[in-house]
Amino acid sequence: MEIFRRLGFADAVRAAGLPDDYPNDVVLRTRATGYELTRIHIPCRRDRFTDTSGPDGWWPTPEPPHRINQIFLEPILATNAAATRGIRIVSRTEFLGFEQDADGVTARAQDLDSGEELTVRAAYVIGCEGGRSLVRRAIGANLRGDEVIQRVQSSYIRAPDLIDRITKPDAWMSYLYNPQRAGNLVAIDGRETWLIHNYLLPHEADFESVDRDASIRTLLGVGPEFEYALLGKEDWIGRRLVADRFRDRRAFICGDAAHIWVPYAGYGMNAGIADAMNLSWLLAAHLQGWAPETILGAHELERQPITEQVSRFAMRHAEGAIRERTTVPLHLEHDTPEGDAARRRVGADAYRLHVQQFACAGLNYGYFYDRSPIIAYDTEQAPSYSMHDYTPSSVPGCRLPHFWLRDGRGLYDALAAGYTLLRFDPTADVSGLLSAAANAGVPLALLDIDADGIPDAYRHRLVLSRPDQHVAWRADEPPKHAGALIDLIRGAAS
Ligand SMILES: Cc1cc2nc3c(=O)[nH]c(=O)nc-3n(C[C@H](O)[C@H](O)[C@H](O)COP(=O)(O)OP(=O)(O)OC[C@H]3O[C@@H](n4cnc5c(N)ncnc54)[C@H](O)[C@@H]3O)c2cc1C
Repeated sequence: MEIFRRLGFADAVRAAGLPDDYPNDVVLRTRATGYELTRIHIPCRRDRFTDTSGPDGWWPTPEPPHRINQIFLEPILATNAAATRGIRIVSRTEFLGFEQDADGVTARAQDLDSGEELTVRAAYVIGCEGGRSLVRRAIGANLRGDEVIQRVQSSYIRAPDLIDRITKPDAWMSYLYNPQRAGNLVAIDGRETWLIHNYLLPHEADFESVDRDASIRTLLGVGPEFEYALLGKEDWIGRRLVADRFRDRRAFICGDAAHIWVPYAGYGMNAGIADAMNLSWLLAAHLQGWAPETILGAHELERQPITEQVSRFAMRHAEGAIRERTTVPLHLEHDTPEGDAARRRVGADAYRLHVQQFACAGLNYGYFYDRSPIIAYDTEQAPSYSMHDYTPSSVPGCRLPHFWLRDGRGLYDALAAGYTLLRFDPTADVSGLLSAAANAGVPLALLDIDADGIPDAYRHRLVLSRPDQHVAWRADEPPKHAGALIDLIRGAAS
């Protein structure tokens, strides 16, 4: 949402998805129509900026999270991409491969309707073509990690009667655990369409041998008379795989082409967008002429360790979730004191586990780049983070901590498109730094900070923010060799 805000269409994204007042809560139920065991409160769209009561009611920027299915998100992305100068979208066309030489890449593709082949000559190619990426194979990258963590049968259904039969109050996502099966139900339009995931049991290695319809009815808690239409199905294996390289000269990979993990904490597509954000400003720096090609080496050095870390967070979470759903007590649905006690215990355990992934500021704001060639590190270590825990910090490599300026703007809204030098003391002389940047053609704007309640994380008079809002450098005094600092951050240090 931060990035969409920057691109100017966060409001359009926030306006799409579930109805305004449809609860975004996450619940654990025995079945969709069964007992509710726990509830993680997440504000609905209408209350997103006013309801701070739940664990997700706080967010360290002006743009809180928004739950939206890709069905609604992708048209907005496509419309805005099509309206962006310099972008040409070619649909119904299969990318077949590419060759690269010293001056550029030549990509080959085929029109799926006419069969006609076309070639595209470009300076760079970025493979964002998902888990089966051709570009990944072409650059000689291998996926490394864990091949199988879980198998899931996913079904997209239309069931107009379900909304009236489901346990109230409504929820955006329902984990469903009973002694027969475990799954997850997601409200898509808040009326009649649903996505239902059936987690295969450890001994069910073959998707086809598991009765999809019977599983759906077991998870929903409905009989054979219940009517629904299967709109689509996709069976998938949850993995933890990260490519061992993200680049070969003029070819890069981003998103699922570079890493695949179990989709916990809503951090598959989010990580892909963060990759693209990172690579795009580095490429722009080089193509605009103010950074040598060496700056591009920062992409893999920054993003690869982060995706490796996130993949492990997601896998640890998956292991907890698998343990939880494969140890469901047989009396979980008994209407007895033992059943009551089991439901309370399973619910409390599930809350503790899942609140981390549904209030995941750590994953979104706590990560830092600690081995980048274009960041000027000092002696302080960045604070550790978890999926949930985030400690704001201005240690170089961290994400710039948010605060409000006195004029009402959020800090990120006041940053320039290039580098921004945050000056917390107007007496600090930054003229040398500004002119060194100007001499090298590096876009650097000065922002004199006028704010109440500056976070404790800011303890220096000067903090340099990169185009992607990570800290590049900080100090109390301007650097002695301003040109050397500018060369370091633009990848030109020898
Ligand atoms: C059940 C489930 C739930 C998930 N939930 C979340 C979530 O809540 N939040 C989140 O952030 N992520 C989630 N994810 C992960 C998310 O869906 C992926 O990380 C994301 O879609 C990856 O985006 P991508 O653009 O890298 O790849 P993809 O979405 O795979 O897109 C690649 C595109 O490239 C096209 N393509 C491939 N090969 C070619 C070719 N040769 N020529 C032309 N086109 C080609 C494909 O058709 C596709 O359109 C979930 C995933 C699953 C399976």
